[in-house]
Formats: sequence, structure tokens, C-alpha cells
Amino acid sequence: MLAHARTSLVIAPTSTPADVKALRAFAHQVAYETGRPAVWATDTDHTVTEYAALYLSGDVTSLRDAPTLVLVGEALMAGVDVFEPLDRPLECPCGLVMHYARPYVDEAGEIFCNECTGDDACAWCGGPFDMEDAEIIERGKTWVPLHAGCLEGLRSSTSSSVLPVTV
Ligand SMILES: [Zn+2]
Ligand SMILES: [Zn+2]
Repeated sequence: MLAHARTSLVIAPTSTPADVKALRAFAHQVAYETGRPAVWATDTDHTVTEYAALYLSGDVTSLRDAPTLVLVGEALMAGVDVFEPLDRPLECPCGLVMHYARPYVDEAGEIFCNECTGDDACAWCGGPFDMEDAEIIERGKTWVPLHAGCLEGLRSSTSSSVLPVTV
């Protein structure tokens, strides 16, 4: 079973149903940009050290009314990366545009997204993929990127209710 190790935790205001809807959409975007599962937090019932990073919808001030703000504090204390949105979108040469995910930058200043560094991974087979061929499915409060082919296989198998992701 894959652990949360490479999963992102996504934090945004949760006061109204519209806020929660925006949070859910934001988490989908993070899953897309990172090629890794993303969980959206509506409560504090998360162990921040199980996540690769926390992504915030805005600066900490904009989250002051969010009950999940405490998770940001816990992450900072624990040394888990906390990312505010990028000042401006970054486009990988492959065309993937990042608003939140931090690309890998080489010595020459070239940027590479997770897909280009092979750092994305199908939650089922663990293999890297082209985000264009990926399906991002919803499991509880998690967006899970998978190969379209793997999803197809899962849907036709008897174990389709079991994904190798802790949610
Ligand atoms: Zn790329
Ligand atoms: Zn796969």
C-alpha cells in the first residue's frame, strides 16, 4: 500500500459550501500539476508529516478563519513544505502550466514539471505518465491520478473498490 508520502494536503477557507467547492477544485488542480494524489482538508484530522507538502490557496492571512490553519502551523513546526500560490504561473517546456506546484529547476534555470522529471506516478501501478493520458478520480476527499488504462483495469476487476491509497 502506498502511504501518504507523496500526497499533497490542500488548505483553503471552508466557511461556506462555495468555499469547500473551491477548495475541492483547488485540490484537483494540485493533483494535476503534481501528478500525485491531493487531499483537501475540511478538518484538522490529518497528520501533516504523512504528506509531501501543504498547498495553500492564498497567504496565511486569507486563511485566518479556516479551522485547518492549525495544520499549517503543525507543518511549519514539523519542517513539512508549505507552499503559497506561485507569484506568477510557470510553464514547463512540455506545456504544463503550474500555479501551485514547484517545478524542478536545473542549474541553467530550465524548469521541469513532475511529469518531465518522471516524478509523477500512477496511484495504481506506480508508473510515470503523461498527464494528458491520466484520469484524476475522486476517492472521498482525495483526487487520485491514474493511467486511464489502469483505471479501466480497476473498473473491470473485482477489487475495483480498493485503491492503493490511504484516504
Ligand atoms: Zn513538463
Ligand atoms: Zn498505472
